[in-house]
Amino acid sequence: MDINKDINQFDIPLAKRTYLNNTNLLPLKKLLIFSPFLFFIFTIVALQLIRNTEFKPLSNQKNQIVRNHDHRILGHLPYDEIPKEKLVLIEPNIEVHNDMRDSLLKMREEARKDGIYLVFLSGFRSINLQNEIFYSLKSIRNQEAAERARVSAPPGYSEHSTAFAIDIGDATQRETDFETEFENTQAFRWLINNAAKFHFKLSFNKDNQYIDYEPWHWRYEGSIEALKVFENSNRKL
Ligand SMILES: [Zn+2]
Repeated sequence: MDINKDINQFDIPLAKRTYLNNTNLLPLKKLLIFSPFLFFIFTIVALQLIRNTEFKPLSNQKNQIVRNHDHRILGHLPYDEIPKEKLVLIEPNIEVHNDMRDSLLKMREEARKDGIYLVFLSGFRSINLQNEIFYSLKSIRNQEAAERARVSAPPGYSEHSTAFAIDIGDATQRETDFETEFENTQAFRWLINNAAKFHFKLSFNKDNQYIDYEPWHWRYEGSIEALKVFENSNRKL
């Protein structure tokens, strides 16, 4: 009797404990089984949140820099020097890209028929020559690089190195060579009305915020190579 009583006393609490375990621990067990998935989901959500709050502004900032920076220096885009074999001499001291030779000479000829006398002032300039122009004038005029760059491109950043650029004057008003006053000459007015027919375009107009207006400086965009060279420049700032 005593033994049975002992056994019963022992069994009943054990049975109760087992019963309690089955009900209370079942959700916990499920939780343990699913915990790796939950951890995985939590990690994904956390990473997403971090991306949205921290990484996204950083990547936007990076895009902003690329869009605004554009590889320009003081407003000038970089240009490679044209290989020598693509240069042709059109008159003493004036070399241009082979692609634009015919169009340029044709333009001068057509202008002459209209009583306008164009004079070519400067064509291809090597990066070395541009280096001399940029740094020697800088020291002579006591100007900082940024001021200097308003009127002359830094070496490696001049359209003249591509041989697709030409500086043009009016043969009847040489005092306006490389001067803003060139815009008041008949030659300039003729160019504004006719240059596009020969695939020439004014490079630095009055809208450019970095580089001074250069009515004498025209570039050729009449070949695929020329269009490729000036593709970046033709994109909106
Ligand atoms: Zn020029």
